[in-house]
Amino acid sequence: MKIRDILAKGQPTLSFEVFPPKEESNFASVEKAALEIAKLNPSFMSVTYGAGGGTSQYTVQIASDIQSTCQVPALSHLTCVSSTREKVHSVLREIQAHGIENVLALRGDIPKDGKVEKDYQYASQLIREIRETCPELCIGAACYPEGHVESVNKTVDIGHLKEKVEAGCDFVTTQMFFDNNILYNYLYRIREKGITVPVVAGIMPVTNVKQIKRITSMSGTYLPERFKAIVDRFGDNPAAMKQAGVIYATEQIIDLIANGVNHIHVYSMNKPEIAAGIQSSLSEILK
Ligand code: FAD
Repeated sequence: MKIRDILAKGQPTLSFEVFPPKEESNFASVEKAALEIAKLNPSFMSVTYGAGGGTSQYTVQIASDIQSTCQVPALSHLTCVSSTREKVHSVLREIQAHGIENVLALRGDIPKDGKVEKDYQYASQLIREIRETCPELCIGAACYPEGHVESVNKTVDIGHLKEKVEAGCDFVTTQMFFDNNILYNYLYRIREKGITVPVVAGIMPVTNVKQIKRITSMSGTYLPERFKAIVDRFGDNPAAMKQAGVIYATEQIIDLIANGVNHIHVYSMNKPEIAAGIQSSLSEILK
C-alpha cells in the first residue's frame, strides 16, 4: 500500500524505522528484530540505506520480508550522492520487483573523504528522476526542523525542501527533535511557504548516553534542559535511562498528536521492546 494513501486517511499513524546490519553475520538477528517490530502491526515500516551503521545491501531484502511476512507496508530508503545512475536504477528495479511501493529518496551524507559520484548532487534530482521513470512509486523525502547541518540557515533549507516537493515527493519525514515547539514553528514556516504535503514527525527514543553524544555531534540537535536533566540523573544507569528515554519519547508523541501532528515515525534502533513499549502506551490514543 502507498504511504500517501495511509496518511490521507486522517487517522493518527505510528510507524517504525529499522536499519540493516553492517556485517552479514548479523543479518539473522536484525531480520528477527525487524519482523518482531513488524508484528506490532505499525502503519508502515522504513528500512534505511547505508545509515545507522548498516549497509545498503540488505535494505530491499528486509523491506520485502517485512511486507511479505507481516503484510506491513514497507518504505525502502535510497540515497544517491555516492551512487551512479545505473546503480540507483538497479535498486529501483529491485524495489519494484519485490512489490515495494514506497521509497524515501535521499541525497545521503557526503563521505568523510569527500568522494562522491557525479550523477546526483541533491535529493531533488533523485526525486524528479523517480517521479519520471517510476510514476507508480510513492516518494518520501527528508526534512530538518532545525535546518540541515550544511545549510546556511533554515529559510534557505526550507527553499530546498520546496524544490523536493515540486520535484514530486508525496510526503516528508523529519529528522529527530527533542523539543516539540521546534516542530510547531517549522510546520508554520513550511506551510507559509506553500509546502502542503503531509509531514511525518521523526521521534528518537534516546535510551543510552552514547547515542546522545552521537546525535549531538552529527546533527547538532537541540537538547532541552528537561531532557538534559534526565541524562544527568540516569545516564550511568542503563535500565533507568532506557525507561526514561522511552517515556520522554512517548510524552513527545502524545503532545504532538494532541496538537494535530498525527503521523509519528519512531527511530526504533532495531529494538522491538522499545517499539512495543511506545506502542502499548499509545493504544487508546492511536484509535
Ligand atoms: P538534500 O535534500 O539534497 O539536502 C542536502 C543539503 O543540500 C541541505 O543542506 C540542503 O539545504 C542543500 N540543498 C538542497 N538542494 C540544493 C540546491 N539546489 N542548491 C544548494 N543547496 C541545496 N542517510 C542515509 O545514508 N541513509 C538513510 O537511510 C537515511 N535516512 C534518513 C531518513 C530521514 C527521515 C532523515 C531526516 C535523514 C536520513 N538520512 C539517511 C540522512 C541524510 O542522507 C542526510 O541528512 C543528508 O546529509 C541529506 O540528505 P537529503 O536527502 O536531506 O539531502
